[in-house]
Amino acid sequence: MAFRHPDRATPLIFCIALTLVFAAAGPPADATAQSPSVVNDSSPLEFTYFGAAGWKISDGKVVVLIDPWPSRLKYGGGGHPDDDRPDFARTDVAWSDTTLIDSLITEADFILVHHSHFDHLGDVPYIAQKTGAKVIGTETAVMILRAYGIPSDQLYAVGGGEDYQFEGFSVRVVPAIHSALNEKHYHDTRRYDETTELEAPLRIDQFIEGGSLSFLARFDRHEVLTMGSMNFIEREFEGLEPDILLAGINGSRLGLYDYDRRLLETTGFPPIVIPTHWDNFRLPYGFSQQPNIERNILPFIETVGRLSPGTRVIEPVHLEPFTVR
Ligand SMILES: [Zn+2]
Repeated sequence: MAFRHPDRATPLIFCIALTLVFAAAGPPADATAQSPSVVNDSSPLEFTYFGAAGWKISDGKVVVLIDPWPSRLKYGGGGHPDDDRPDFARTDVAWSDTTLIDSLITEADFILVHHSHFDHLGDVPYIAQKTGAKVIGTETAVMILRAYGIPSDQLYAVGGGEDYQFEGFSVRVVPAIHSALNEKHYHDTRRYDETTELEAPLRIDQFIEGGSLSFLARFDRHEVLTMGSMNFIEREFEGLEPDILLAGINGSRLGLYDYDRRLLETTGFPPIVIPTHWDNFRLPYGFSQQPNIERNILPFIETVGRLSPGTRVIEPVHLEPFTVR
């Protein structure tokens, strides 16, 4: 499959000048937040956005992937007329664009999986097999990966509440809830466990949610709170105080009560917020994301500027690495 490099009109990093004076209960501006475009020799954290909820984050020692799904298959409708790739139905067998993945991902130490929907877990079987990375996810995710033959010693089934120390990296698993899809009618309690019979390759619709998680990923100098959905449980985020928040900001969040304010407040008004899962993930890399930028990112930046003047919002561009000191 041809790989088109993003033809982007937006700057690599969109730093907001925060000029509003915020009184009363507003958070203090963080004087320690440095320009994320500045690289120095003090182990900056490098981020690469794969689209959807997918990321590579590395501090130079540990490479962590989050919901990596470079395949971005055209499935379930919502494609673009200029996208001449095959259309997949949800009942079709899942497929990964291994050529594209090989061009983007060569190594990984950990893969964190927020939930098991296809746009989160779909490429993890191939990437886990290819890299040997340790995968942390729900039991549902682990059962799917076992069906694909990923060895058990690579797999860590978690339910939320675990706080694991690895070499050079620790991760706290935070219980979460899924986006309020289908005008809030979405609710899926299905889970896979030891008794579930799965045969790889699965169909796309066999990638069920299986419960949702967030992660507090602790690197050498930064704590990153990740989201894989446009939803969260306030009491689970309270007290975590990450310095970097990957904030789920797709349109479904607008169906939730006072989402932006509750999210910023409960996470302690993080110095750096990076929007995630905001793009049209059925489009291949290189297609314009301008409608989603205008619908999701720009209003969010405006809201953050008003609610949390000390926060810098970084606008990620597909496959364009940026660093945070
Ligand atoms: Zn999902």
